[in-house]
Amino acid sequence: MTRHILYHELSDMREDVRAFLDRPKAILIGGEFVEKASGGTFTSEDPGLETALAEVPAAEQAEVDAAVDAARSAFEGEWAKMVPAGRAGCMFKLADLIYQNLDQLAQLEGLDTGKPAHIAAALDIPFAAEVFKYYGGWATKVRGSTLDLALNPEQFHVYTRAEPVGVVAGVIPWNYPFAQAAFKIAPALAAGCTVILKPAEQTPLTALRLAELVVEAGFPAGTVNVLTGFGHTAGAALAAHHGVDKLTFTGSTDVGRLIAEASAKSNLKRLTLELGGKSPVIIFADADMDKAIPAAAAAIFGNSGQVCNAGSRLFVEASAYDRVIEGVAEIGKGMQLGCAMNAGSELGPLMSATQLQRVSSMVEEAQRAGVTVVSGGSQGGDKGYFFEPTVLTDMDPASSIATDEIFGPVLCAMTFNDDDDIVAAANDTNFGLAASIWTGNPGRAHRVAHAVKAGAVWVNAFGVFDPNLPFGGYKESGWGREFGIEGLNAFLETKAVSMHIGA
Ligand code: NAP
Ligand code: MG
Repeated sequence: MTRHILYHELSDMREDVRAFLDRPKAILIGGEFVEKASGGTFTSEDPGLETALAEVPAAEQAEVDAAVDAARSAFEGEWAKMVPAGRAGCMFKLADLIYQNLDQLAQLEGLDTGKPAHIAAALDIPFAAEVFKYYGGWATKVRGSTLDLALNPEQFHVYTRAEPVGVVAGVIPWNYPFAQAAFKIAPALAAGCTVILKPAEQTPLTALRLAELVVEAGFPAGTVNVLTGFGHTAGAALAAHHGVDKLTFTGSTDVGRLIAEASAKSNLKRLTLELGGKSPVIIFADADMDKAIPAAAAAIFGNSGQVCNAGSRLFVEASAYDRVIEGVAEIGKGMQLGCAMNAGSELGPLMSATQLQRVSSMVEEAQRAGVTVVSGGSQGGDKGYFFEPTVLTDMDPASSIATDEIFGPVLCAMTFNDDDDIVAAANDTNFGLAASIWTGNPGRAHRVAHAVKAGAVWVNAFGVFDPNLPFGGYKESGWGREFGIEGLNAFLETKAVSMHIGA
């Protein structure tokens, strides 16, 4: 059965979005907008209609070198000279500009990623603005400490300084392009660093619009540079660059490994890596099912499953299993698939033909291996990269469908009998990004929360994100944390100054 898709008309496009798409696209290097890049241009596509949206410059080594030079000059010059309160002011101004341009940015984000623009307007874009505001607040609060030496406290006056790590590269994926840009840029600026951002090749547009807003906000030239381009050229050049002091990355575990290798082989640049996941949602029979069932559905179907912390493994206590699976499958069947600019759309398409092919073939392979498709399981519509919300059961927990990141709206549902059982099953993965636990028993909730190996644990909730809440992975889900003071510290070096004061 092919699902009914709500397509959009290009006449639904805002005038200012059309004007942005029509004008030549430019990368930002040292405060200058540059239309020509060494790699020529590449096309950004609307994944809902499979039509071209815009041609954008393909930055390569030469542009990377120029951007690193510009970022270095700003780091040692104008941005360093600006007092923290001035830096905070630029960040607050940028947050204001994001709010002023919210509807335009949301529609542009929707067109480029396929996600419903009304969802981007409610979540992605305001969250990005709040991250700039939050870290703008930290810009005036960076501090070291004084301390006494353990072995010789009388002889030395000792203090630490928290200093910016230097020139930062941010390399981001396509699932939340605008928010991810803020996650990389904001804490780096708060620490006093300068930044080069490389968005994913599939979603360059809101990063290019952000570059314009950065200039409007009055940041000194070179403080933020934006390079659109490919991972194997621009991204790899940043990862290998001796002039980049720190790289902060979100994306696949495979590319995370390449970046770690490039860092090791160049200047041992510092790394924050936010990688993949296969996060468990654990529902005990005593949970409030009216809340747990819709949350389990949203955990895997939201953003069409293209979420690093998607709740892609659902574990239900045996006595509640049938009810929960049926409930989640029904919600999936009722969800309206559609294009970004259609107000009725609840779920957008997958990002690209490649992603659709990948998700489809993983589900087909699972079916051949005997997995039951409870609902969904196929492409939706005859145009666009839509995939139906899908619930799978009866899989081998060691099979690839149950262990690999699918990055689509595909749920692997399994059952369990007791607390020990579920902790072992939840932790039986190379990933460790997030976990969600549903129970009416607070003691059990905490016991399981402590035993699960994941950077984020949500109890009777899913997907709690906040600028003040650290987020990041255990195991192969990555290195380091974003958000909160942990996210700020990731862009600071500690210098210990010891002065002899004894006689
Ligand atoms: P990806 O290849 O890891 O891409 C993420 C970013 O890294 C993009 O900007 C990409 O540029 C860049 N990149 C690629 N190769 C690079 C290299 N050698 N050196 C430096 N940068 C490089 O992810 P993807 O291709 O977009 O998605 C593939 C899979 O990754 C998905 O199916 C999913 O499993 C996972 N993923 C995870 C997340 C997450 O949030 N954890 C997000 C997106 C994807 P290009 O865009 O030019 O390739
Ligand atoms: Mg696109």
